[in-house]
Formats: sequence, structure tokens, C-alpha cells
Amino acid sequence: MTKQMTFPLEDFSDVLASNASFVLGFQHSELTGTARKGLAIVTCMDSRISPLAAVGMQAGDAKILRNAGARVTDDVLRTLVLASYLLGVNRVLVMPHTDCRMAIADEASIHATIQEKFDVDTSSLEFRTVSNQRDALAEDVARIRSYPLLQKGVSVAGAIYNVSTGQLEPVDC
Ligand SMILES: [Zn+2]
Repeated sequence: MTKQMTFPLEDFSDVLASNASFVLGFQHSELTGTARKGLAIVTCMDSRISPLAAVGMQAGDAKILRNAGARVTDDVLRTLVLASYLLGVNRVLVMPHTDCRMAIADEASIHATIQEKFDVDTSSLEFRTVSNQRDALAEDVARIRSYPLLQKGVSVAGAIYNVSTGQLEPVDC
């Protein structure tokens, strides 16, 4: 019995076409899964951010963890534990950004917007919006630094990425 393949080609045809071109010029096949520069970046899913380019790195150099708002969730901690013991990560940069929806709107208003526009109640989800971005960043950095299962000696820092200029602003955490 062959399982029928369900791949919505009409939605992803540009992705596959671009990948075919990418494969022609592909040159990273010698890389391993270890982060060559020892860096992990926790940042937002915002499509304006190219995390590797922002710090002058390329494929193979760093681990990139992304979610809405660059928040340090349980899943981020789980991933950093693996990265610190097994994948060469010895420094972590938490990198939220300017003009982030998660820092502009509050939890209730985002739920209300989705309810109004799509008639769906998302209130069972915690979106982890932040009312003060710098305070939230300090909390998130502290959460990593104090996480008992992370490898000892990992350096953790916070910086805000400016989506207008590309500049990273180090933040006292
Ligand atoms: Zn964002």
C-alpha cells in the first residue's frame, strides 16, 4: 500500500522553484550541526529580521531560535540546553526588536482583534505580549542565566534590534 502524498503544490510552487536554484549553487554540504561561532540567537519571527546577516554570520555559524516576541519560553530553554551540551553553543543573545507587535499591543487586544476579524476565540493561548520591552528582556535573560540545567559558563546577553537601521543596541540586563 502506498500512502498518498498530500503536498499542496499550488501554495508552495515558488518555494520549490527557488530551492531548485539554491541547490545549483549550494556550497555548505561540509558543515556539521555544531554552531561554529558558539552563538545562539533568540529572536522574533518578524520577517524584517535576518539574524545571521545582522551579526555578519552565515549558515553553520549560529543557532537561531525564533518565536513571537523573542520570548524565553520552556521550549526555548529546552532547545538551549541541547544546544549548550551537544551543539557547541557557549553564548546566547536574546534579541527582541523595535516596532514589535508583541510589545505594542496587549494580550487582551490581540485576542479581541482575532475575535473581531475572524470570529475565533484564542483566549486559551498565552501570546506573551510585553508591556515594557526592556523589563521583559531582562526577565528573559535572567531566566536563561538562572536555568539550572543549562551548561555552566554559558554567557547570556540581551540586545534590541532596530528594524529601521539594522543596529543592535546592547541592553543592561
Ligand atoms: Zn516581533
